[in-house]
Amino acid sequence: MAKESKKSAGQKLAEKLFFSLKNCWDEIDAKTEKEVEELASSYKQFLDRGKTERECVIAARELLEKNGFADIQTLEGKKLKAGMKVYQNIRGKSLIAAIVGKKPAVEGCNILGAHVDSPRLDLKQNPLYEDCDFALLDTHYYGGIKKYQWTVIPLAMHGVFAAEDGKITTINIGEEPGDPVFTITDLLPHLAKEQMQKKAAEAVEGEDLDILAGSRPFADKEAKEKVKLNILSLLHKKYGITEKDFACAEIEFVPAFKASDVGLDRSMIGAYGHDDRCCAWPALKALVSLSREKDAPEKTVICYLSDKEETGSAGNTGARSSNFENFTAMLVGASEAELRLCFSRSAMLSADVNAAFDPTYAGVFDKKNSSFMGKGLVLTKYTGSGGKYGASDANAEFCARVQGIMSRNKIQWQFGALGKVDKGGGGTIALYAANLGIDVLDCGVPVLSMHSPFEVISKIDLYTTYRGYIAFLKEA
Ligand code: MN
Ligand code: MN
Repeated sequence: MAKESKKSAGQKLAEKLFFSLKNCWDEIDAKTEKEVEELASSYKQFLDRGKTERECVIAARELLEKNGFADIQTLEGKKLKAGMKVYQNIRGKSLIAAIVGKKPAVEGCNILGAHVDSPRLDLKQNPLYEDCDFALLDTHYYGGIKKYQWTVIPLAMHGVFAAEDGKITTINIGEEPGDPVFTITDLLPHLAKEQMQKKAAEAVEGEDLDILAGSRPFADKEAKEKVKLNILSLLHKKYGITEKDFACAEIEFVPAFKASDVGLDRSMIGAYGHDDRCCAWPALKALVSLSREKDAPEKTVICYLSDKEETGSAGNTGARSSNFENFTAMLVGASEAELRLCFSRSAMLSADVNAAFDPTYAGVFDKKNSSFMGKGLVLTKYTGSGGKYGASDANAEFCARVQGIMSRNKIQWQFGALGKVDKGGGGTIALYAANLGIDVLDCGVPVLSMHSPFEVISKIDLYTTYRGYIAFLKEA
């Protein structure tokens, strides 16, 4: 047996005073290992089903209803009692769910707020055109993307057409085995001499993100634009739509590939849409987990899945709308003044991702303030850009409260600045909650290659975040 090395006074003091992080995989036992895999597996299914905000809301509703949550609007006139489980579907694109606590809601709620929209390519209002016997679909990108990343990958078509008579036609092409997929072409290197000299932001321009949708003419000698006609004819046969119907549609092109384990050790998940479904899913699962407990939670607990975060949370399904206030008003069920009081006493984790430190691009990170994959959930005190512009910047007291919850429950957390000062920036829905007077802190999973078609997270961070969310809902 090796002789136990004696620690020096300085070593002991360093252990006490320094902030140090373990790799969470080092601490794992067999039971946890199983739970990590189970959560990862349910999450991958959620990702494959939910590639748009609408599909995520459908999947969330299904899970909630299976667990006894009822549409709050069907309960009109009924008094909410402790333990009741309710949700509101907001235009099919955002959702808020809650479990009524033992204490009245006016005493404050514990909230998890994530978003279910992700960067993608939306079709324009009049997208279809023909050029040199190709049918192409014109897009407008949604959210912050590196445009060149969206060419030469298989894309799937998701979305809805709304008809004047109120009928909704759902589209999902490119996901089932045997489905056709779509793609955006790029220039061969042999002819890309000029393109390769351009800045990355200009190498592929937004207006050139046009989707290859067909190349076969309609069989008719006299007709014009026969390739376009053929595509419209196929769409009309299958869905009954005509060209003008694109103007009342929401069609999103997203990567056609499925979520997969990454690495020989299968420690990571690669997929489209981790931002922010890797926080939305554990947040929703945390709420459902509480709903299965015998006793109602002390405080009312809420899970908010918002839309439009990637474009600044504007619009009537975004976090800047009054949807969250309206829902909470139904929970409080009292005067406007009491609703405001409820907000001022509420606590929220803005459940959103942060950039994981990437050794390949170490130069843009401040290593001692970055989050690392495999090292637990990230607490991000502030986001914004430049001089903390647009950041809600959580106060020290609330940071301490959240850290305390994590420490008591042995949930490893880490610091998370987005990158070096002046290297860029970003935001979350935290500031819109802060506007209501809610105490709010960003808390989520570190992500590699954020906003790309294939983002990567660690399974252990997903699990740690899930546990952290449960602890917060119970104890904040
Ligand atoms: Mn996000
Ligand atoms: Mn984002």
